Amino acid sequence: MQQQVTLLILGASGDLTSRLLLPALAQLLQREPDRRLTLRGAGSDAWTSEKWRDAVKDAFADAGADDVYDRVAQTEYTQADITDVGALKKLIEPVEGALVVYFAVPPAVAAASCAAMRGITLPDDTVLALEKPFGGDREGAAKLNELLRQLVPEDHVFRVDHFLSRATVLNLLGVRFANRLVEPLWSAEHVERVLIRFDESLALENRARYYDHAGAMIDMLQSHLLQVLAVLTMTSPATLGERDLRDAKGEALRATRIWNDDPVHFSRRARYTAGRIGDRQIPSYVDEEGVDATRTTETLAEFTCEVRTAQWAGVPFTLRSGKALGADLAEIVVTLRPVRHLPDGFTGRPADGGVLRFSLGPDTLSLELNVNGGDNPFALHRDIATVDLGEGRIHAYTQVLSEILDGDVTLSVRGDSAEECWRIIQPVRDAWARDEVPMDDYPAGSSGPEAWETSVAAGTDPAPVDGTTGAPQPS
Ligand code: NDP
Repeated sequence: MQQQVTLLILGASGDLTSRLLLPALAQLLQREPDRRLTLRGAGSDAWTSEKWRDAVKDAFADAGADDVYDRVAQTEYTQADITDVGALKKLIEPVEGALVVYFAVPPAVAAASCAAMRGITLPDDTVLALEKPFGGDREGAAKLNELLRQLVPEDHVFRVDHFLSRATVLNLLGVRFANRLVEPLWSAEHVERVLIRFDESLALENRARYYDHAGAMIDMLQSHLLQVLAVLTMTSPATLGERDLRDAKGEALRATRIWNDDPVHFSRRARYTAGRIGDRQIPSYVDEEGVDATRTTETLAEFTCEVRTAQWAGVPFTLRSGKALGADLAEIVVTLRPVRHLPDGFTGRPADGGVLRFSLGPDTLSLELNVNGGDNPFALHRDIATVDLGEGRIHAYTQVLSEILDGDVTLSVRGDSAEECWRIIQPVRDAWARDEVPMDDYPAGSSGPEAWETSVAAGTDPAPVDGTTGAPQPS
């Protein structure tokens, strides 16, 4: 029998709560019949507990889990300004037993609420779960870390990055470390370049209030994609335990720099203009409701970086993500160097030594090999062997909630890594703020700006590789 825990969601009337947290909670309760939980919601909207219960019930029904609603049916909602000490006192001090506070609110509100929490007594073993983005820059993240240290120990802080709980990202560990076919190849000696891409066909979808302040760089690259980079490039940890895994990731991030320390040439940004995606007509980003055009928020961002270690120096890693693109394309593409010697006599010369492609939805791993045979036995061509990794029946947020409620921080982002991620992107942000990198545009429904086309279309690194140095040429 598990310990009774109170899960208090702050920002209970928001998008994250209804779209991701509540369905994930439903799935978790379905999977774990013994899980004991008291659910509470709070937020600034003038909801009644009845309205909140309806929202919970609807979310559970949508998740196909009406059967477990009874286990949280007593849930209550409190209208409260969570940045106010008095309001927090009333919410938190009466709680008996273990408490998990989930900040499903904008980052500035979460930080203000943490500051207010210094004025109240938190129950022993309180766990605090914060969403991305964690802070607004390196200094902000450091201050927030300091604040959190005053409230609870580091192993009671969850900086949620649900990408780390995605089945495919976790699969990187097995593929990398459990295969003799892969493990020895995982270095600059064999890997020529890597692309980590998350293209979405979704446009703004009424999220201007959040997105117009974040943009693609902060929404995706600063958080999720750099975490994927860390898992991809970390040295083999001794164990998959919390300390070893997070140390290894932290080390990789500390070694990461923008390519050539040149954010002007090795970053790109763009914004969508009006276009069509399937049967949806999408307005220009600047005409979307709630967007302030003077912010020059990018909806497509890209940079190339280097992990400056003996294992990876010289290998360009390109991270790219954008909205309102023609297709959902989420993948990690690892391109191997050409073989040192190709015997004379083959027809055709492959551009690379093969490609390992992890697709994040559908979750597959493809091995693209140069093979010969067929009508002309010595003609080389490409064949693809694909393994279905399975979507994983557990939704990433279900996994996240399970870890939080069990107090297992292994897959949450440690404080130092959260700061490093801001440090890595800061030169790009500075160059963009100085307008040293043009804001390109692309029609919604396309694959990005025309000038970016040639490189990305191949599914490899957008920055072409210079034959002599292995370094990407300026874009
Ligand atoms: P929303 O703006 O939809 O929701 C935030 C909620 O917080 C709203 O209900 C808002 O109420 C409430 N709130 C704001 N200020 C206060 C306050 N002072 N006191 C009490 N409640 C307050 O944001 P999202 O749900 O989209 O995002 C929340 C966080 O989750 C963000 O950090 C975001 O980056 C992250 N996230 C979101 C994802 C998503 O798909 N939505 C995915 C991954 C992460 P009101 O409307 O009255 O202001």
